[in-house]
Amino acid sequence: MKYIFGPVSSKRLGQSLGVDLLPPKSCTWNCVYCQLGKTRKFVTERQEFFPREEILEEIREAIAVNSSLDWITFVGSGETMLYKGIGWLIGEVKKLTTIPVAVITNGSLLYLPEVREELLQADAVLPSLNAGTETLHAQIDRPAAGLTFRRHVEGLVAFRRQYKGRLWIEVMLLGGINDSDEALHELATVLKEINPDMVHLVLPTRPAPEQEVRIPSEDRIEQAIAILSTVTTVVNPVKGTMDLRSAPDMLHAVSDIVSRHPVQQRELQKAISDCFPGENDKVASIMLDMLSTGRFKLVDHGGEPYWVINDDQG
Ligand code: SF4
Repeated sequence: MKYIFGPVSSKRLGQSLGVDLLPPKSCTWNCVYCQLGKTRKFVTERQEFFPREEILEEIREAIAVNSSLDWITFVGSGETMLYKGIGWLIGEVKKLTTIPVAVITNGSLLYLPEVREELLQADAVLPSLNAGTETLHAQIDRPAAGLTFRRHVEGLVAFRRQYKGRLWIEVMLLGGINDSDEALHELATVLKEINPDMVHLVLPTRPAPEQEVRIPSEDRIEQAIAILSTVTTVVNPVKGTMDLRSAPDMLHAVSDIVSRHPVQQRELQKAISDCFPGENDKVASIMLDMLSTGRFKLVDHGGEPYWVINDDQG
C-alpha cells in the first residue's frame, strides 16, 4: 500500500492505522529532533499531493482487513495539514466506519481559517508546542519564514475555540534545551492560554539530525510533569510499539514503517517474536533475511542500534 502503514500499537492511541498523505519530506518546520532528517526545502503551500480518491480506497481496503483498529491516524512524512483536502478525507472515513480519526500535526498552519475548518470533524487533534518563547521556537522548530511563534500560538488558541473534539498537545522534551524550570514555566503560561484537553510529553528516542538532541534526565522529566500539570493533564512520555501480527507481508510492513521513522532493533525483534512466540532462531533468520535485501541499514543512536532505510541501495 502506498499511503497506509501499520497498524502501530501505542499506549495513547492503541492499535492505530497510519495514513501518510505527503511525499517525503514536506514540512513547514525543520525541527532539531526530526526523525525524518533535515528539511532540505520548506514546503508551505497546501496541495492535494496525491488523488484523494486513491487514498480513500486504500483506507477502505485496510479497514476491511484489520478488524481491531482503535484509531485511524493521519500522520506522515512532514506536516500533515499541507495536504489540501484532508477535511474531505476525514469526512469520507467517518462515513465508512465508526473508528475514531486522529490527526498529528505540527499546528503551524492553524492560523489559517481553512485549515482549522478541515480539522473540525476529527475526533482528536495532536498539534506540537515545544517552546514558550519565540527564541526557543526558532531554536527547536526552525520554522519557514513568516511562521512565527505568535502566529503558531494564535492558531492554536483560535482552533481551541472552534474545535469540540479532543485537543492533545504534544511537547517534545529535549535535554538541555527546553527542560529548564524557566522554559517549562514559559511553556505552561502559553498552554494555559491555549487550554488543551491534555498534554502528551514525548522524548527524542529516535536518531535526530542534530547532535545536541538528547533525552532529558528522569529528574527533568518529573519536573516537566510537575510544572505542566499545574495547567492541564499531562500524560507521561510513552513510546509506540510495532505490531506485525496482522501484517499480510512482513517485509512490506517493516519497510513501510522504517521508511517513515527509524525503528529500534529491540522493538523490531519484539514485534517479530510476537508473531512467532518461542521461535528465536526463526526470528533471527527473518531479521537477517530482511537485512540481506539491502533495503535497511543499522545506525547507532545513544548506544542503541536502529533500523533505517538504506538510501545507498541501488
Ligand atoms: S514538524 Fe514533524 S516532520 Fe516537520 S520537521 Fe518537525 S518533527 Fe519533522
